[in-house]
Amino acid sequence: MTVFTSTYPSVPEPQTGIVQTLFESKEQNQNPDRVCYIDALSGREITFRQLKDMAYRFAAGLQDVCGFKKGDVLAMYAPNLVDYGVPLFGTLAAGGTVSPANPAYTKEELAHQLGETKAKVLVAHASNIDTAFAAADIVGLSRSNIFVFGEEIVKGVQPYVKVLLGARLASPVGFESTEQIRETLAFLCFSSGTTGKSKGVMTTHGNMVSNIWQYCAVEKDIYESKDARILAVLPFFHIYGLTVVLHAPFYMQRPVYILPRFDLENFCTTIQKYKITFACVVPPILLLLAKSPAIDKYDLSSLKTVVSGAAPLDAALAAEVQQRHNLLVKQAYGLTETTPVVCIQPGHDIVPGSSGVLVPDMLAKVVDENGKALGVGERGELWLKGPNIMKGYLNRPEETANCLDEEKYFHTGDVAIIDEKGHIFIVDRIKELIKYKGFQVAPAELEGILLKHPNVADCAVIGVYDHEQVTEIPRAYIVTKPGVEQNEKTSEELKRFVAEKVINYKRIQSLMFREQIPKSATGKILRNVLRKEVKEE
Ligand code: AMP
Repeated sequence: MTVFTSTYPSVPEPQTGIVQTLFESKEQNQNPDRVCYIDALSGREITFRQLKDMAYRFAAGLQDVCGFKKGDVLAMYAPNLVDYGVPLFGTLAAGGTVSPANPAYTKEELAHQLGETKAKVLVAHASNIDTAFAAADIVGLSRSNIFVFGEEIVKGVQPYVKVLLGARLASPVGFESTEQIRETLAFLCFSSGTTGKSKGVMTTHGNMVSNIWQYCAVEKDIYESKDARILAVLPFFHIYGLTVVLHAPFYMQRPVYILPRFDLENFCTTIQKYKITFACVVPPILLLLAKSPAIDKYDLSSLKTVVSGAAPLDAALAAEVQQRHNLLVKQAYGLTETTPVVCIQPGHDIVPGSSGVLVPDMLAKVVDENGKALGVGERGELWLKGPNIMKGYLNRPEETANCLDEEKYFHTGDVAIIDEKGHIFIVDRIKELIKYKGFQVAPAELEGILLKHPNVADCAVIGVYDHEQVTEIPRAYIVTKPGVEQNEKTSEELKRFVAEKVINYKRIQSLMFREQIPKSATGKILRNVLRKEVKEE
């Protein structure tokens, strides 16, 4: 039985939680006036001292104004902002848990997250405050516990800086044992896992501190360089941006230049203006870097390395970007459930198409359908074990038990091959999950919506690869009710019906009619039958 191990030395067991690790240690306090986050559009900066002061005042404000207690949840519903860390670290300092949501979520999607997490406080943004109200009303979250970023009152909602940042500084809630650090929740990001709708992933303080260390051990060269300047273009609400962009450079004391979202012009302008050296991206950004003529007018020569994750990266595309811009393109792989970093291509050992080697303390097995561990070069499901594996899914013991086994191996639902040198190749996915440009789309959610339409008798949703967009897209198979015409009009109507209820990346982009949906004897959709048909198309 082969267990694949990391060749890197172990990282220590965390002895402090996230806030103590990032704000209280001697090393972190050595240079308190260092700039940690910069708004790349306005140039506004936040230093370590300012962030610490505001986060600890925010913690006190939460306790004094909102009656926030240890274990309570604060949801964030905002784009990347220079002060995103204030409510985030403030909540952790108050002993709470942060649940970051996509700022473009619809009211139903946000209400799902608020309801699942029982969030007590919501920090939203001027751009989405109406949706925040609507979602809060659905779950009964009091409007007096909603705040906004910025300085202005928005539709009667107070900015957090005016109400929660009083004179008192809370002392960050501490932990009594390493076990408590390992077990206490810090974040609830959402993932659909191997099956079903999206669920809160219980990421603990121990998970986050460990994964920062695991990741930084491999990326040491990048962060130890004194002139490292990091671009934040990945959203902080997703675990990839949260750990690798918001936390890790801060821990390594390197400045992070923040963009609210990706657009090519701001991306290039920021690299040129601030001489960015390092960026974490997703494959569709690399496609633009490879192909777009518009970028020729920018000087991107400061950019030395990019890491691509969250979805498969085509080896030819990586090579094209590497050649055109003379930079190192590295692939990494991870999941929300693994906080997220599992493996990365080390700078000195890039094998095209591989997602790199295991970070420290990560154990991996490649397993066949019967749970038998396979060997080098064999293809099977990837199982992982290590200090960065989530505690489980919030309030979902059964779904947790389905993916976390007795030996504490997490079953990823991804298919991998590991070669004799430990390079990991992610070659397929057996779980239902669709990844649109790195974003999760849960088929079960779209199927649930489609089944509510009066013309739909049955349906199934799978991901199909779109070569032009270099991403999977959601495709729906529809069995119509008797008498309903299977034509373009019906198809458009169904697509519109879904589009009204979901964020834009979950929209059905391809729709096909069928006589029936292939199902197992127990009524489970046989997605592999549909996938096989797609391959044959
Ligand atoms: P998320 O929890 O949103 O980060 O999604 C995790 C899933 O994204 C994994 O289970 C994979 O299916 C996919 N994924 C992430 N990184 C890669 C990669 N480098 N190659 C292939 N798939 C990836």
